[in-house]
Parts: sequence; structure tokens; C-alpha cells
Amino acid sequence: MPAAPLPSGMAVLERGWLSANNIVFLPAPGDADGAAVIDTGYASHAGQTVLLIEAALGSQPLARILNTHLHSDHCGGNAALQARWPQAQTLIAPGQAGHVRHWDPQALSYTPTGQDCPRFAMSGVLQPGTSVRLSGRDWEIHAAPGHDPHSVIFFEPHSRTLISADALWENGFGVVFPEIEGESAFDEVAATLDLIERLAPRTIVPGHGSIFTCVDAALATARRRLEGFVRAPERHALYAAKVLVKYRLLDWQRVRAGDLLAWVAATPYFGVLHARHFGDTAFLEWAHGLVDALEQSGAAQRQDGWLLNI
Ligand SMILES: [Zn+2]
Repeated sequence: MPAAPLPSGMAVLERGWLSANNIVFLPAPGDADGAAVIDTGYASHAGQTVLLIEAALGSQPLARILNTHLHSDHCGGNAALQARWPQAQTLIAPGQAGHVRHWDPQALSYTPTGQDCPRFAMSGVLQPGTSVRLSGRDWEIHAAPGHDPHSVIFFEPHSRTLISADALWENGFGVVFPEIEGESAFDEVAATLDLIERLAPRTIVPGHGSIFTCVDAALATARRRLEGFVRAPERHALYAAKVLVKYRLLDWQRVRAGDLLAWVAATPYFGVLHARHFGDTAFLEWAHGLVDALEQSGAAQRQDGWLLNI
């Protein structure tokens, strides 16, 4: 189904899986709030992110950086953008303001996931229940817990455009991070899908992947997937572990198999997932199995002791 046109002044820079999509808003004539970007990609792509946003803005300075949530693939470019546009305000969901002010990479998930995110400063919060003005339109801010307890999503009711972050993709949703640590969050995922259904968006700009309009089909797919995870939480645990390994491989592109296994052994979330769900298998054997599974699914390829991202 072809995507409906986006509200004027809004541009989506579709990235890949390592870097979340960046959504750029040019100011409307007479708009005092200035240009803005929602989400800034992963740290290793930060140089590319700055160039892409410079190109999208033309002569406009970037006035605001907004983050749907603070996973490393959504805010890894914040520091580079702040360096390029020192006057830019940075607005984040309220739940993690303290962790950003005092920079706590444990609470912000960078240490437990083994991912990188350069330290950045914040200047304000995106309070759910309020709205933010982007390209001359008011975008509602909604809490969207589940994938991340602090995530927000943005909805523009006139065009019925939703910026869904990792709460809903065309073909699923992001790993339910609280569940990795044993905190139940599948109900929150369901409630956020219900919220999206109530908002009745016409066009969805997801955190990853292309803009889509088949909203009912995406909701049905997400609910089926969620039901599977609720029935068998170990399936979600295995999915989470594979996603974390694949993500590391996406960044490195090629790595010696032994080095990847050493990274798995040193990265806290793998120990947590293993202990909680797969304790019957020795850790190293389980870790080998994760790499084998990636290879079998066509997400990686072995070559002379190296593992290549494909
Ligand atoms: Zn995320």
C-alpha cells in the first residue's frame, strides 16, 4: 500500500537496523521553535547522521533534538549533533532524566547490552499528555511502555501520523527489554498496541524500516507475536539474545568467532538470559548455539574463523 504523504516540513531519513530512523522537521514560516530531529542513530554512524541532517536542514540550524527513548540506536548521535549545533536543546522522556544528568550507563542499558553511547546533555523532558510543536503542527506525546518502560511516541491527529519508535513496526516490535531482567512488561506491550489502535493512525513512521499504512495488519502481526512470547517467554529470551548478538555484528561487520563469544561472555544481559531461561545448557554451549542459529538463519556467515555480517 503506498504511504500517505507526510505533513509538510517533515522528512524521514530511513536508516537501517543499527541506526534508528531520523525524522527531521523544518520550521514552518514564522515558527519560533526551529528545526528539530527525532532520534539520532547509533554512535558508530554519528558522522553520517550529522551529514544527513545537515543536508536535510539546508541553511537552517538544528534547534531541538528529541528522543523517543534512550536505547543506543536512537540517541547514539546526540553527542555529535550537540557538538555540531551547540545551541540545540535536547528533550528526552522524563523517566530517565536523572540517569542522563548523572550519566549512568548501567541504568541507560549501555553496559548490560554491551552497546556504546557517547555521553550527551539533556535540557528538558517530553511529558506524556502534553504536545510538542514540530513544523507548525502540535504533536501529542504519549507514553508507550513495553519495549522500553520510558519510551514515548508522537501522534499528529490532523494527518493521523504516528511516530511509533520500537513500539510497533510493520512486522513486529522491539525486544521487550524489561522482560530480559525478569520484570514483566508483556502487558505494557499489549496496552501500547491498544493505545495505537485507539489513536487510529493512517501513516506510521516506525523506529526501523519503511513508513507504512497497513496499520491493522501490523497490529495483528504484533499481537500474534506477543501472544507467542506470553505463552513461551523463553522464545522471547532467545529472540532477545539473538538480536543482541546480531546487533553487535551489525556494528563490527566482521569479527573473529572467538572474540564474539568472549564479548557474549562479558556482556551482562547474556548471563541474565542464560541463568533465567537456559540454565540447563552450559553457558558456552548456549553462546555457541546463538552464533550457530544466526548462521542458520542467514544473518551471519562463518569464514576461516571469522564471522561476517550478512
Ligand atoms: Zn529501542
